[in-house]
Amino acid sequence: MNKIINQFLAEIDNRNSHEPEFMQAVKEVSEDLIPYIVSQDIYHGKNILMRMVEPERVVMFRVNWIDDNGEIRVNRGYRVEMNSAIGPYKGGLRFHPSVNLSILKFLAFEQVFKNSLTTLPMGGGKGGADFDPKNKSDGEVMRFCQSFMTELFRHIGPNTDIPAGDIGVGGREIGYLFGQYKRLKNEFTGVLTGKGVSWGGSLIRPEATGYGTVYFAEDMLNHIGDSIKGKTVTISGSGNVAQYAAEKCLHLGAKVITMSDSSGYIYDKEGINEEKLNHIMDIKNNKRGRISEYVKKYPKAEFIKDKKPWAVKCDVALPSATQNEVNGTDAKTLLNNGCICVAEGANMPCDHNAIKQFKDNKILFAPGKASNAGGVAVSGLEMAQNSLRYSWTREEVDEKLKEIMIKIHKKCLKYGKEKDYVDYGKGANISSFIKVADAMLAQGVV
Ligand code: NDP
Repeated sequence: MNKIINQFLAEIDNRNSHEPEFMQAVKEVSEDLIPYIVSQDIYHGKNILMRMVEPERVVMFRVNWIDDNGEIRVNRGYRVEMNSAIGPYKGGLRFHPSVNLSILKFLAFEQVFKNSLTTLPMGGGKGGADFDPKNKSDGEVMRFCQSFMTELFRHIGPNTDIPAGDIGVGGREIGYLFGQYKRLKNEFTGVLTGKGVSWGGSLIRPEATGYGTVYFAEDMLNHIGDSIKGKTVTISGSGNVAQYAAEKCLHLGAKVITMSDSSGYIYDKEGINEEKLNHIMDIKNNKRGRISEYVKKYPKAEFIKDKKPWAVKCDVALPSATQNEVNGTDAKTLLNNGCICVAEGANMPCDHNAIKQFKDNKILFAPGKASNAGGVAVSGLEMAQNSLRYSWTREEVDEKLKEIMIKIHKKCLKYGKEKDYVDYGKGANISSFIKVADAMLAQGVV
């Protein structure tokens, strides 16, 4: 079996050798899927995985804009339309200086599987630009978003491709992008999700990824007769996902002791309570400041510069910042400190070595495609509400989110349950693959 997997990966690597993040995501999925495909007559010999790793379409474009000093700036924009077998392309836009084709292809590839798991009819895509919204004025961000959408608008649509937010793309950016799309098309449609509630957005969408991640951690803990109540939790990141993961931990009676950003992490051994979390939200969302400012108001807490929070002893870890932020050494430290559950809030935050150690030690480990699927699931609910021209209440959306996370957990169990352990990664990969692969087979070689 290893020979077949290695042959497949070598062929993909030949075409994509300069795309390490994409190859990492393909490897992680192939190790679970190839043995399954080989064992199933309907998939074997159809080159189905080869078809899945090739994007249906990639658009790359120039984004010119003028900064506040009147200088002309040039960025690169992208949209990777990965797979539309089960629905229109759906996935976020990332604005970060590190954005490149490898990162967007890995995200789009993961998105295909994640969207399949949500049970909603959504294909997978991802896009963004190497633009850094940090230290830019609102006017600069608006001009960038308008220029970006002036090209992107011809490739997307409410029945074709429906982008959302991701790193660096929050409510402000979605607003500017939506405004420009509406102006260009003269249409008010659900072409983006994560919209403001007064103009087509869904309640609970901002909270959904973080809440969903904690619901999933709770489902895993419940499955072994435990719960997150009373647990000590470390969280990385202090953006959208991290903030609402922290909020839901507090709702469920857990103690959150760390949060971070790209400059370091804060450690508050007394716990980040609701008031302190509101302060973090104010720093990050309104003032667009740094997490280090937390210790000015709460001097008993520490700020640890340029470090990640994984050396802090915890029961549950929720990596919620970015890809590859937990490596093998971090995993070993977490395990030595008694961590029993890791649920990925971010996409691929744990590298291959880290995942291997979590699995070898049989702790609860949820891959992002399962645990952070709540965000895109509520985006799917936003699309449904837009089509119905109707809005569900906060309670209705939260209830649907909880149900979806429970269904995802069940799907992981179906294909990931082993004698004394649940391999959530394998369960998520096989279960999501089946739905997409069956649709592709039914639609012929297209
Ligand atoms: P935000 O931009 O709101 O926040 C990102 C956070 O991560 C910030 O604290 C940021 O710090 C930190 N961060 C970003 N890049 C790095 C880096 N290279 N090194 C260290 N820290 C970094 O993004 P989101 O919260 O929306 O996204 C976080 C993760 O969750 C991403 O992996 C995203 O793909 C994933 N995700 C998001 C969903 C959503 O609905 N938003 C849905 C599913 C997954 P700083 O402020 O210093 O940049």
